[in-house]
Amino acid sequence: MWDKTAKKRIGEHEVRPESLMMSYGYAPQFSEGAVKPPIFQTSTFAFESAEEGKAFFEIAYGLREKGPREEIGLIYSRLNNPGLEILEDRLTIWDGAEASAAFESGMAAINTTVFTFLRPGDVVVFSEPIYGGTEYLFHTILPEFGIETVGFSARKGMEGLNRVLDEGDRRGRLRMIFLETPANPTNELVDIQGCVEVARASGSEARPALVAVDNTFLGPVFQHPLKLGADLVLYSLTKYVGGHSDLIAGACLGSAELIGQVKVTRTFFGSMAGPWTGWLLIRSMETLKLRMTSQMKNARHVANFLTDHPKVAEVHYLGNLGEGDPGYEIYRKQCLSPGAMISFEVVGGEAEAFRLLNALKLVKLAVSLGGTESLAEHPGTMTHSDIPPDDRLEMGITPAMIRLSVGIEHPDDIIADLAQALEQV
Ligand SMILES: *Cc1c(COP(=O)(O)O)cnc(C)c1O
Repeated sequence: MWDKTAKKRIGEHEVRPESLMMSYGYAPQFSEGAVKPPIFQTSTFAFESAEEGKAFFEIAYGLREKGPREEIGLIYSRLNNPGLEILEDRLTIWDGAEASAAFESGMAAINTTVFTFLRPGDVVVFSEPIYGGTEYLFHTILPEFGIETVGFSARKGMEGLNRVLDEGDRRGRLRMIFLETPANPTNELVDIQGCVEVARASGSEARPALVAVDNTFLGPVFQHPLKLGADLVLYSLTKYVGGHSDLIAGACLGSAELIGQVKVTRTFFGSMAGPWTGWLLIRSMETLKLRMTSQMKNARHVANFLTDHPKVAEVHYLGNLGEGDPGYEIYRKQCLSPGAMISFEVVGGEAEAFRLLNALKLVKLAVSLGGTESLAEHPGTMTHSDIPPDDRLEMGITPAMIRLSVGIEHPDDIIADLAQALEQV
């Protein structure tokens, strides 16, 4: 039996994640010597014998324990598919996860995970601002299933979290703390380790509190929540991991035990990623570190330009945090780089922000982020428009705010475009 873990070492030398992206989880001898994994575009898999089919189902349905040398067999592409397994193996590398599950969207990953672990009577506490789809799921859908959902302000941090837990006497019923850090679009940071400590002191023995972190903005290269004690990491792979704005996908990572449970739900929800999406992601992951590093470097140049510009009132960028800033200590503890997401406020309001957005020539006016091309949008009227205006302001999302996802273009070109667009403000 070929051991995929053997590839992580050359003798005593530990091979780094970026090198494993071209090899881990796949051997050419599986597929006619093909250096790249083919697309396994099939719904179902032939068994060699009826006995083998029986054995595969026994393992898949948990009817008996897996033998020491037994692998989960290929049955049907809603349960597993070779391409999906290669993708999932590679996804575990950056975060140091035991296992991962891939989905057809980030929202599919989030809702399949949430419905795996939450039951009526449970409490889920989440940091705000949070991705709009997650906000809707928590505010509107989960309460209809008897799950109590409460937001806490990322700005208020641990104090905000502890306050909402004490208010409704929620600690004993706490089942999940769901975080997004850095927060979208304000780049506010939440202390992951602090939340893990609160979770360990909450919940019950039967239903321990889990910490789930949406790591879309900095991960998987620049932030590793599992290493800080989080239980689950979620991704919209649509963003940096896919990286070319040409697919929608998601993932959940964690211990083999928790991900095993998530995969059972996924099998019955049917929310897994398809073979073509999986193949595109395997290809994207080969250049993931190159792209994220290039985007991070560009963002530093762009942020410097914006910070010095007279028509820019405020820049929210992790690289501008300095000693004494709230968030700086958290940044030092949990982020490996500032990433490439910048939000900034122009001098003025919505009209001035719109004038800038309408004048852009190279940077595209679109939601989403993390792709090779730079994208700009207006959170107040676009991604975060369904948040009540007062709450929006409270979160720091002003009418003058623009969110920028910095791409891999030449930084001087991005800056030239912003410079001419700022003249319109
Ligand atoms: C885009 C995004 C999602 C949702 O992912 P989809 O792939 O669009 O379903 C979730 N969280 C964050 C932080 C995102 O940016």
